[in-house]
Amino acid sequence: MSEYGALPPKPAQGPRTAAQPSSAPMKRIGILGGGQLARMLALAGHSLGLEFAFLDPAPDACAAAVARQVRGPYDDAAKLEELASWADIITYEFENVPAQAVRFLEEGRRLVYPPAEALAVSRDRLSEKTLFTELGIPTPAFAAIESLSDLEAAVKTIGLPAVLKTRTLGYDGKGQSVLRRTEDCAAAWAHIQGRSAILEAFVPFTREVSIIAVRSSTGEEAFYPLTENIHREGILRFSRPHAADPRQAEAESYARKILDQLDYVGVLALELFDTPEALVANETAPRVHNSGHWTIEGAYTSQFENHLRAILGLPLGRTDLRGSAAMVNCIGSLPKREEILAIPGAHYHDYGKEARPGRKVGHYTLSAASDDELDELIRRFVPSSI
Ligand code: AMP
Repeated sequence: MSEYGALPPKPAQGPRTAAQPSSAPMKRIGILGGGQLARMLALAGHSLGLEFAFLDPAPDACAAAVARQVRGPYDDAAKLEELASWADIITYEFENVPAQAVRFLEEGRRLVYPPAEALAVSRDRLSEKTLFTELGIPTPAFAAIESLSDLEAAVKTIGLPAVLKTRTLGYDGKGQSVLRRTEDCAAAWAHIQGRSAILEAFVPFTREVSIIAVRSSTGEEAFYPLTENIHREGILRFSRPHAADPRQAEAESYARKILDQLDYVGVLALELFDTPEALVANETAPRVHNSGHWTIEGAYTSQFENHLRAILGLPLGRTDLRGSAAMVNCIGSLPKREEILAIPGAHYHDYGKEARPGRKVGHYTLSAASDDELDELIRRFVPSSI
């Protein structure tokens, strides 16, 4: 049962799969995951006349305020079936959806975008870095690690410092440790508890940046301005796009290679390290991304709307900046609404989540007519300790 009783199935129209497209306009979007990304997708899609339902096991999923919830685990065939029989098309808001759930939905049931292969690549850091290498995209030297002796051998070839990361299920810096001396190997291996891992050379970057790219099912592509990101304790704190970043063309060329190789449909985020020599790819996210939240007010078309346009095969909207913008994440708790709204050009986003240490509970965007005006707002209103 969903939160509001079982979702009504679609009126007789037959399945809509890649093999059997239907001519009726698609309206019902099913999302795997019901966090803030699903919530912001639904908020963007309501104005396009779209309806939303999502599958999520959490009793307090924050997308429930704006979409219908099917509550259950992601590998529950009956729940997946319920969502699939209601929806015209399925998308997801996080990459750790079990691969078999996506296969189940695709097999004669519904179109699922982005494609399952993109999900498989981005959930495994080894496949991801292998893809970067195959496409000629610079990435840190890396090696697959299955044992302490693999790690000791890899440290000799890759050198130190280096970063040991679990291949799967790592995010926001979880499941990783930095090795500075050969003697750190045993502790780092113990820290990841014998899980399959990857050792990467440590990149002495000057900036962390990301590019949000979008490709429609028609093949149309668009790229947002390169965004500079500040992380603390592995969690994104602050993002600022630059209208004419000198690395824009380079970042776009890498993102385009990935979109085309995966025959991608939807929004894709590519996170990169900037170094004096070149951009170096760190990871992809096959979904709308936290470093693209500024696009809601800062771009002509938000990443959420463009993701929906892309999966529905609609024309993509302009991705360029309207003036200047920056985004501040609210981690653990929210600042006072009235204080943020007193800042000229500020927009406040409360995800409706309970405050908890380390949890992303909201964000605010600062928008301004020019970079100088934005610099002034940041200086006055963004705490240097974010
Ligand atoms: P990740 O989970 O891969 O996004 O890593 C979390 C954060 O750790 C990144 O945002 C970087 O600040 C840092 N980091 C990850 N990999 C490397 C690397 N190879 N070299 C330097 N810093 C890294």
